[in-house]
Amino acid sequence: MIIFGTGSNTVPCGITHALFCAHCSRQNEFDLLLTYNYFHLYYVIRQVGDKHYLLLCRTCGHGWKCDPQKVEPELKRPPIPFTDRNGVLILILTIGGTFFLIGISNFIANWLKTN
Ligand SMILES: [Zn+2]
Repeated sequence: MIIFGTGSNTVPCGITHALFCAHCSRQNEFDLLLTYNYFHLYYVIRQVGDKHYLLLCRTCGHGWKCDPQKVEPELKRPPIPFTDRNGVLILILTIGGTFFLIGISNFIANWLKTN
């Protein structure tokens, strides 16, 4: 049985800005967050789909979406976890590793039969 589905996650980017909040009517700290959707296979292998950067007021939670092309150069490291970013790569390496191990074990078995 193949188990698959979709999910979403929100991760902090580790960047704050002091900006004027129109909802609070004063200057507050705003946190940069990344929300993204992903497709998963067996809950482990994930591939990221849509992603949005949000700048949200720490006090009231109001904020706005940010342009990824302006935000991403500020980031020191990708905020999306490695397994979520590279799900297809992990799947390919797992399948390739399995075939490699099967090939090695067949080679060793044949070598033992001839020697
Ligand atoms: Zn606010």
